Amino acid sequence: MAKIQMTTPIVEMDGDEMTRILWQWIKEDLILPFVDLKTEYYDLGLENRDRTDDKVTVEAAEANKKYGVGVKCATITPNAQRVEEYHLKQMWKSPNGTIRRILDGTVFRAPILAKGITPYIPGWTKPIILARHAYGDVYAGVETRADKGEKAYLVVEDEKGNVREKLLVQDFAKGSGIVQSVHNMDASIASFARSCFNYALDVKMPLWFATKDTISKKYDHRFKDIFAEIFEKEYKEKFAAAGIEYMYTLIDDAVARVVRSSGGILWACKNYDGDVMSDMVATAYGSLGLMTSVLVSPEGNYEFEAAHGTVTRHYYKYRNGEETSTNSVATIFAWTGALAKRGELDGNADLVAFAKKLEKATVQTIEEGKMTGDLIPLFKAEGVVPQKMESRAFLKAVAEKL
Ligand code: NAP
Ligand code: MG
Repeated sequence: MAKIQMTTPIVEMDGDEMTRILWQWIKEDLILPFVDLKTEYYDLGLENRDRTDDKVTVEAAEANKKYGVGVKCATITPNAQRVEEYHLKQMWKSPNGTIRRILDGTVFRAPILAKGITPYIPGWTKPIILARHAYGDVYAGVETRADKGEKAYLVVEDEKGNVREKLLVQDFAKGSGIVQSVHNMDASIASFARSCFNYALDVKMPLWFATKDTISKKYDHRFKDIFAEIFEKEYKEKFAAAGIEYMYTLIDDAVARVVRSSGGILWACKNYDGDVMSDMVATAYGSLGLMTSVLVSPEGNYEFEAAHGTVTRHYYKYRNGEETSTNSVATIFAWTGALAKRGELDGNADLVAFAKKLEKATVQTIEEGKMTGDLIPLFKAEGVVPQKMESRAFLKAVAEKL
């Protein structure tokens, strides 16, 4: 069989621990036999990040910007214990944070569905993709305590330091308390909005956005207005042509509607709502091993990855020569997402078709009862007895199906 050719390379970012092992096996078993794979390789494994003073992470992100499509393996975000374990020069920052800053993107998390694995909300028969705004609000908040008798104000000065506005937050005459101040940037909200509109068009799913603008008449209302203005000016016709809708509602209404829905929605959330709801949605769909994640920048650069980490506990077992049953599905889908997007941008229909076939083979393997240990307790299908596979054996089964 002739291998599928590629014209433009994908930016490949290797990672750490068990996912680094799976990464190699996925390429060997599922991609290299079929595709004449072109990648620009960056080793984001912790040792190489330390060796290069983390420059490799920045270079990889720049390359992702240059080529448009990247795929990333899970990486260790070092803490004090990792600094000791790897004898690091310093506690390097989260690679995902660095890449997100450089691409200025929004993260979309999407579950992979397979028959037999029923979400905790069984009505969710289609995926819910969650987009979380990654800037501001309480994550860049300023807060303090106030004693009895104190007053707290919100003060805005002009460039010369003249007070333009001074609002009383609270007079603590009756007793002590707490104060918090949060902000956001119009430009950040606008780029979040564009990322969401673009991604909705990409996946042809309706977009929902919600805040609490009835209560927060300046702050949350600004989010609502920016989304509405950009939609009217830039996306209304494109959405109509694609046959999808943009809906704005209140956050509590959105939560109720999402639970009652059958899925098939792209749900855009403010930073805190997204933090909370992404964990709720991910858990409801079953396993971290079935959750993919893609970072999309407003200019249309894509970085695909699995939503889970490096699965450290499994790696220590692997290093001891023990068998592991680590779920590789989200990492496979990170690769297929990148291959399909590359194919789409290059007009390479064979590459797109290959990615879709690999996804189908992966899901079918599970549906026929072959899966890793994390999925066994979730799987229920009449007449199918689930069989627990070791990490590599699962990949071989998918390869056979493919
Ligand atoms: P984790 O690697 O996601 O693993 C947490 C636990 O979830 C595992 O111990 C395992 O449970 C289960 N699990 C996760 N993915 C699985 C899979 N593919 N197959 C089977 N089980 C899976 O999170 P963590 O232990 O908190 O973090 C480990 C390292 O990953 C840390 O150094 C962290 O910095 C890094 N991390 C990286 C990213 C990223 O690069 N995007 C994201 C998160 C964390 P059992 O042990 O019970 O089997
Ligand atoms: Mg969270």
